[in-house]
This record gives sequence, C-alpha cells and structure tokens, in this order.
Amino acid sequence: MEYISLASGSSYFRSPGAATAAAISALQAGKTFYGPTEGTLELRQAICNTYNKDGLNVRPEQVLITPGSKQALFNLFTILLCQGDEVVVPTPAWFGFHELMKYSKGMLVPLPTQLSEGYALTPEALRKTLNSRSRILLLTNPGNPTGRIYTKSELEALLEVTNEFPNLYILSDEIYDRVTYSRPFTSLLSCKGAKEERIFLINGFSKSFAMSGWRLGYMLGPEEVIKKCIDFQGSTLAGVSVFLQDAALATLEKQDQALPPMLEVLAQNRQLMQEGLDAIPEVKYYTPDGAYYFFPDFSHYLNRETPSGETITTSVDLCRYLRESHSLELVPGDYFGAPGHARMSFAIEMPKLQEAMQRLKQGLLVIRCSF
Ligand code: PMP
Repeated sequence: MEYISLASGSSYFRSPGAATAAAISALQAGKTFYGPTEGTLELRQAICNTYNKDGLNVRPEQVLITPGSKQALFNLFTILLCQGDEVVVPTPAWFGFHELMKYSKGMLVPLPTQLSEGYALTPEALRKTLNSRSRILLLTNPGNPTGRIYTKSELEALLEVTNEFPNLYILSDEIYDRVTYSRPFTSLLSCKGAKEERIFLINGFSKSFAMSGWRLGYMLGPEEVIKKCIDFQGSTLAGVSVFLQDAALATLEKQDQALPPMLEVLAQNRQLMQEGLDAIPEVKYYTPDGAYYFFPDFSHYLNRETPSGETITTSVDLCRYLRESHSLELVPGDYFGAPGHARMSFAIEMPKLQEAMQRLKQGLLVIRCSF
C-alpha cells in the first residue's frame, strides 16, 4: 500500500515561479557573496510596505531577515530570556516552540485552551497565568495545529491584559497569515492598544508561499532589540543569502499571482477533509479558519483494541497503528500539548487526501472496545 503522509508542515505546491526566476537571475548576476546581516534594504522595505498598506508605519530598521522564522524565534529567545524567565504559550501549540526552548534559558508555561470553547484564549485565563516572571507571551495566529484565527476584538482584549505587564514582550507568530478561509486575519500590530516597543511579529515564506526549503523568515519589532538580534545573527549565522532574498522580494511583488490558486485548492481540500471527518462517528474537531490542518479529537478511539489485539491508549499509539496498518501518517496531539488529538494536513494532492480519509475511516471503525 502506498504510504500517505498528512504529517508534513509544508504544502505540496511548487514554490512561486517568480521566486525561482529571481533566484536564478541573481545567481547568474553573481550575487553570491556576503550581504548585510540584517537583510537587503529592498526586501526589508517590501516587508514594511505589506504592513504599511494596512495603516501601520513600520520602517526597515525594525526588520531582520532570518534563515527561516524558526531562527527569528531562536534569536529572540536568546536575546530576551534570562534564567527562569517564563514563556507563556497557549496550547495546543506547535511542537517546535518546545524544541527551541530547550536551547534557551527560559521556561515554557503552557496555557491550555479547549476545543469545546473553540480554542479561545480568554483575557481572564491570560491574566491568571501572567506574573512578574513572564517575559514572553507567544501567540500563533492563525494557529498551528488548531487553525484558529483570533478576531481583532479578541486580540484587543488580550492586549488590555498584556499592557498591565510592562516587562512582557509579545511574539506573534503570524507565519500562516495569508492562508485564511472563513475569517479575516488581523496582525497583532494593527490592533488598538498594540505597543510597538513590546511586540514582535514573526513571519516567513515557508507556509503562505510554499517555500519551506528556502529558509526565509523575518522578525519585525522594536529597533533596539532588533539591533541586538542583528549582532547575534552576525556573530553566528550571518545574513541570509542575497539571491534567496531576491527571490523573497519577487515573491512579495508577485504575491497576487501565487496566492489565489493555492488558496483555492486548499479551500477545496479543507472541505474534503471536513466531509471525511464527518463520516467518522464520534470525532470532534474545530473547523480551521486558517493554516492547513485539522486537529481532531480522537479520544473516543482510545483505550480500545485493534483487530490484531494491540491496545491503543494514547494518540501516539493511534498514530503508530494507522501508520503500520494503513500506511497513513498523522502527528500525535501529545506533541502539541493535546493528548487524544492528532494533526492532519490537507495541503496534499486531492486524490491522496481522498484515499487518506478512506483509510482513516476504515482504520478507526475496526477498533473495538476492549472492555
Ligand atoms: N512557526 C510555526 C507556527 C510553524 O508552524 C513553523 C513551521 N512548522 C515555524 C514557525 C517555522 O517555520 P520556518 O522556520 O520554516 O520559517
């Protein structure tokens, strides 16, 4: 049986033609030497323009181009965190945060949100969790794995709380910002109450533009901290290759060509996965507003036995069973701080997705109650 993976964090689309063409011509033009650590002025300005057209007034000095947004996060964790500082992360959250934190001085503090409440992060829950040791609040909007998009008023209510904590920085990971379906996306920086000196936007080209292998990300934030991050990046990795940044610039300039066809396919796939899930009894899920994952609750299928007599206790067991018996790969919810769930990407070819949903149904329906 052909193996099907719904586990990847990148989509199956090809990177935009404009990116490839720009990279090739930059290489042919000999742009193969060190560039500025902070990134080319053209790319940083183009990034500012995307925010300024929505009414912001940000400057290239506030932007650092990084080798992937993961590195932007790592730079900030390194610069901002002292021993024991708390990094509050609403969960379910991307497992990469936890992995990155292992190499920093900070401590991750999960702030659970619930499927039954639409994964809403309430100002009350946030206020209860924040304290004088909280240094960073790390929001992901749209969410990975939930696909949840915070509304503008939700963000503004959260900002009212964070503004009570003068030592707190907010990192808003907006890497899926252009992948939206049912709700408009609002950048944290454009909300009422957003303090430019406390907020960092984290973003990149991996998700919205299907460019994960190019390693292109950026952070946008207060200039004084950005300067420190530039120093850190200069001493460790140096600047992102200039020919890659030319590709990123071309991608932004031609984004109106690249995005609509991808979003159209993703919207159809989202529908297909939703129908597939609806056809399986007792599976609960949040319909994603953005990103390209469903994160269903498969708890009903735990503490049961597979046809071969294996007991399934956790979502890790469930994913192992689906992989070994049905050649279908999902990511266990335990990795995102949500036991009983699993993450499923719908950013794959439609025929494969159809087959995957059939296999999931077959795989789950034969699991028997073991007591
Ligand atoms: N943030 C989130 C929420 C992600 O899902 C990912 C990738 N899975 C990243 C950051 C890292 O992206 P990259 O380093 O490819 O830019």
